[in-house]
Amino acid sequence: MRAMLLGAPRQPLRTNDIPQPKPNAKQVLVKIAACAVCRTDLHVVDGELPNPKLPLVPGHEIVGVIVENGKDVQRFKIGDRVGIPWLGWTCGECEFCRGGHENLCDRARFTGYTLDGGYAEFTVADERFCFPIPASYPDAEAAPLLCAGLIGYRSLAKTANAKRLGIYGFGAAAHIVAQIAKFQGREIFAFTRRGDSEAQEFAKSLGAVWTGDSETMPPVPLDAAIIFAPVGALVPLALRAVAKGGTVVCGGIHMSDLPSFPYDLLWQERTLCSVANLTRRDGDEFFVLAPKVPVRTTVQTFPLAEANTVLSRLRNGQIHGAAVLVP
Ligand SMILES: [Zn+2]
Ligand SMILES: [Zn+2]
Repeated sequence: MRAMLLGAPRQPLRTNDIPQPKPNAKQVLVKIAACAVCRTDLHVVDGELPNPKLPLVPGHEIVGVIVENGKDVQRFKIGDRVGIPWLGWTCGECEFCRGGHENLCDRARFTGYTLDGGYAEFTVADERFCFPIPASYPDAEAAPLLCAGLIGYRSLAKTANAKRLGIYGFGAAAHIVAQIAKFQGREIFAFTRRGDSEAQEFAKSLGAVWTGDSETMPPVPLDAAIIFAPVGALVPLALRAVAKGGTVVCGGIHMSDLPSFPYDLLWQERTLCSVANLTRRDGDEFFVLAPKVPVRTTVQTFPLAEANTVLSRLRNGQIHGAAVLVP
C-alpha cells in the first residue's frame, strides 16, 4: 500500500510502498477514506514530541471502512464506517485507567505517534478505541472531529459553565468548539495572530461576539479561556483576560516555554490547567452531541502525496479550518 513515512524527525515525509498491515485478534483493518492533519502531527514531524515509532505513518484523525476483522472483533462488522482517534490503546490496569482517567494511562499508545496512523491507504486499529461515525457526516468532514473535535470538546468541558469564553488560536479545534459553545448559549471571544483578519472573519462567521489580536484585552472580563495555539506567551495574556475565579485551559500537546509572570495574574483563584489526550467517554459524549448542534467542519482536502505541503501550510497558519488528506 501507499503511505507517507516519517524516517526521522525534522525530515520530509517520503512516499513509500509498504506492506498492508495485518489486524491482530482485537484489531480491524480499515481502508482509509480521509485523514485530517492535526497540529500534533507537526510536533511529531518536527521532533518536539519524544520517541516516536520510526519509521512512522503519521495521522490520527482517520475515517474509513472496515475491510477485515481480527478473530476476536465483536463491536464492528466488515463494511462499517469507523473513526480512529489519537488514543489507540490503553492498558486497562494502571491506576489512571482504573480511575477513569485512561487519557493518562502509563502505557498508552497513540495513533500516528507510537502506532502507525492514517497518512496511508490502510491502517489497523484496536476495535475498542474506534468510534462509529454519525451518518450525517461525509468522510472528509468527519475526519477533523476525531481530534480537533474530541480534544476541543474535552477542553471545553474543563471550562465548566463559563459563559464568556475566550479562544486563543482559531484553527481546526477552535472552529468546532465555537459551534458547540454557541449551541450551549456561551459567548465566544476569538483571539488570533496579530492582523489575521481572515481568521477573525472566520470566527465571526461561526458566531463569535468579539474578535481581536491575542495581545489585546477583551471588552469585558472572561469567565474562561482555552489556548489552542502552541504559544506559551499566551498564558499570561489569557490569565489577564479572565475574571477572578476564571479558568485558563491549555488545549495543545506541546507549547513553547511559558514566560515568568506576576503572581497577581493567578491570584484570586484563577486556575491554569492542561488537557491531555482523550478518553473513550469523551468520544461517546461528543459523537452524540456533534450531530445535534450540528457541528459543521470547514475542510480543505488534499491528495495524500501532498502531505508535506499541507504540513508546511499548517506551520505557517495558511490552513482555513482543517486540512484533510484523501488517499
Ligand atoms: Zn493504563
Ligand atoms: Zn490531534
